[in-house]
Amino acid sequence: MMRPEVQGTLQARSAPPDALGRVLSDLRISVIDRCNFRCPYCMPEEAYPADHAFQRARERLGFEEIERIARAFVSLGVRKLRLTGGEPLLRRDLPDLVARLAAIEGVEDLALTSNGALLPKFARPLREAGLRRVTLSMDSVDPDIFRRMSGGRGELADAEAAIAAAERAGFGPLKINCVVMRGVNDDGILDLVARFRGSGHVVRFIEYMDVGTVNRWRDDRVVPGAELVQRIDARWPLEAMPRDRMSTSRRWRFRDGAGELGFINSVTEPFCGGCTRARLSADGKLYTCLFAHAGHDLRALLRAGESDAALRATVAGIWSHRGDRYSERRAELRAAGVLEHVEMYRIGG
Ligand code: SAM
Ligand code: SF4
Ligand code: SF4
Repeated sequence: MMRPEVQGTLQARSAPPDALGRVLSDLRISVIDRCNFRCPYCMPEEAYPADHAFQRARERLGFEEIERIARAFVSLGVRKLRLTGGEPLLRRDLPDLVARLAAIEGVEDLALTSNGALLPKFARPLREAGLRRVTLSMDSVDPDIFRRMSGGRGELADAEAAIAAAERAGFGPLKINCVVMRGVNDDGILDLVARFRGSGHVVRFIEYMDVGTVNRWRDDRVVPGAELVQRIDARWPLEAMPRDRMSTSRRWRFRDGAGELGFINSVTEPFCGGCTRARLSADGKLYTCLFAHAGHDLRALLRAGESDAALRATVAGIWSHRGDRYSERRAELRAAGVLEHVEMYRIGG
């Protein structure tokens, strides 16, 4: 017989809001914890030697399991799915997963975040499978700095080839993510802006965050988004665009009509109040915050033979208890020694 709490949740059309009144609307799905880059802010080379023990294939969720979990989330009100990693294009047969997810009724947006190195090979099959949007990471347009920001693994020419392949496959306009680290790539931001002004693609500057523990984050490496706005505005005048309360990004546009920019100021201007995202790691842990130190094991539930109804009820229950707002409490929590966070490459940003 069905447990009464399961029955109750089944009747609801969406998950109850979390403990701070935030509704569940996005799910980020990490499909693999491996990466072909070693960006210093995410997977610094010295912390991940060649023999590092990444998850094995059987530890990862299979496509059927990912689809089941995604269906549970969509039935609870999620409308946006984003595939991420590690580097998601390292996951074999990714277009097959995209096709499964694209077929779920209720999914309004299906996107991918990638470093792009493998995109020329996969752009078209992903598009044909139903992927709608692509976000590419590109931290510099200087070949040497680009290489350094990828931990010596990436080439600027390949990132440019990825952009061209995405355009050809019909993914434009793209979002281009740039993590800014003071003293590393911040001198080059005007060149990056110049590259994309007038292209239709939207560059989004992301403040360097204290995600994970291995990047040895220091706050003097963070360049506040407001400082970047000032620097760009002095060269190409900008104006603020209306703010969407639920958006993580502050949007500005060029006054001369050459496009827009986004600023994800998660350190200096936290946006936890509008955080409607859940994150699923490749091994099936559900994280309710980018800075959580532990996740809820959904894989165990699936592999124990639990029903879809039980899965849905579990997710709804986890969401309803969610009270995370790390970025708003960063100073207080860091001072109290709360420094254990899941690594970014496990849950994909
Ligand atoms: N490998 C893919 C990529 O780089 O696009 C997807 C996964 S990556 C973890 C997702 C995003 O997180 C990237 O745009 C990356 O730049 C960002 N990111 C990783 N570590 C970060 C950090 N410490 N602070 C801010 N953003 C970070
Ligand atoms: Fe890999 Fe992306 Fe992390 Fe860079 S940011 S190391 S590309 S997962
Ligand atoms: Fe969301 Fe956690 Fe980031 Fe706040 S700190 S915006 S709750 S992921």
